[in-house]
Amino acid sequence: MEAIILLGGPGAGKGTLSEFLKKQTDFIHVSTGDMLRAALKSGSPVGLEAKAFMEAGALVPDSVILRIIEERISQEAASARYMFDGFPRTIDQAKGLDLLFKNKSGTVKHVFNLIVPRETLLKRLTGRRVCKSCGAVYHLINIPPKKAGVCDVDGGELYQRADDSEDTILNRLEVYEKQTAPLIEFYQKQKLLRDIAAGHSAAETGAAVLDILSA
Ligand SMILES: [Zn+2]
Repeated sequence: MEAIILLGGPGAGKGTLSEFLKKQTDFIHVSTGDMLRAALKSGSPVGLEAKAFMEAGALVPDSVILRIIEERISQEAASARYMFDGFPRTIDQAKGLDLLFKNKSGTVKHVFNLIVPRETLLKRLTGRRVCKSCGAVYHLINIPPKKAGVCDVDGGELYQRADDSEDTILNRLEVYEKQTAPLIEFYQKQKLLRDIAAGHSAAETGAAVLDILSA
């Protein structure tokens, strides 16, 4: 049993990278969000426990997240390889993952830390535009409308949501960095951290990760 961990904040391209790796490798994508949804649906005891926290608007505790991960892993072959996305989020989760893997003679091989210059992140994150009438989503760089400021579908006016303003985004980036700093230190100490320059195209980021995986 093997695992890699994907670390990347808003706009770092973690979603795109995990889609790429799903196609190019046999790593099983395990995202905390998907897993929580699955656990709720399954109605398993731990799923119900998580549900109670979520319905109360509380964070799901590390111990519950870890049991959900354990349940997920127990569904696959002992030789399976996983990529964790959105997990671990805290040092306690990281330590719990270590223990879980040790008990099953597994190893965490690499922690890929997607690094993007702040200026590039801002360009990516402030570029989103939404149609006022139909809600279609565009991006000034990635998915530009045919005519600036106008929806391709119905000619509606495109606007920038308050969530996508520079101040809000800077704040989200800061929160992410603060939350992740201890994890980065934890994996650096274990010599598992692989910094990946992710400021260019998704293909380049993917290729850099594949290089390390095949080394
Ligand atoms: Zn529209």
